[in-house]
Amino acid sequence: MSSESGGDGPKPAGCQVLAAESGKGAQTAPFAGDRAGESLDGEDRRWMRHALALAERAAAMGEVPVGAVLIREGEVLGEGWNCPIATHDPSAHAEIRALRDAGSRVGNYRLPGATLYVTLEPCPMCASALVHARVARVVFGTRDPKGGACGSVFDLLPPDQRFNHRLECQGEVMAEECGDILRRFFQQRRLTHAQETLTAPEGLAADNLLMRLKNPHHAGRFLGKVSDAKVSDAKVDTEGSKT
Ligand code: ZN
Repeated sequence: MSSESGGDGPKPAGCQVLAAESGKGAQTAPFAGDRAGESLDGEDRRWMRHALALAERAAAMGEVPVGAVLIREGEVLGEGWNCPIATHDPSAHAEIRALRDAGSRVGNYRLPGATLYVTLEPCPMCASALVHARVARVVFGTRDPKGGACGSVFDLLPPDQRFNHRLECQGEVMAEECGDILRRFFQQRRLTHAQETLTAPEGLAADNLLMRLKNPHHAGRFLGKVSDAKVSDAKVDTEGSKT
């Protein structure tokens, strides 16, 4: 399974895309409040970088690197990073953990006026939780063509008339950076898996084998001969879930 994030192809319906990120002259979304689009774009990038730093924590734990941060009035309300494996909790997505962190800090399960920044398009579970929490705005990085609920697969955000809460949804902010961390993670995981499971063919020195595996081009050709594993650095692969 694979996907390409931040590409130039047709954008799924649903979320708005920042012109600065699309590079195709897309219309900048109408923003609430009296902030100019440019300053909000800068603020969005600032907090998306924060979410990326949280995603690195997930990667360090061997979890799919997704990070999320909730902001209200310029202050951090809650932070989260993906860790369902370590916590034995299928709901431990970055967005859910950020919501729980924020709810605990402010003493309220409703978080009106808050903006959630998350590096990957929310799944249906997280999209619904954001509606329940009455979050005002969601900004995500790269799209998830395998399970995204903001137009890529499902159309839960922005909410349709059947929800009793409206929230703004903005997609593909720093999409390249947010996709890169996933690409690196899955590439490294494939290499590690290959190194652990493959044995060197007779006569091939271990350091020679390692060199081949670290080169995606050579590794792909090499692995194709000795196993079903394929190495590619060309696509984002979210592997169907965040676990
Ligand atoms: Zn989720």
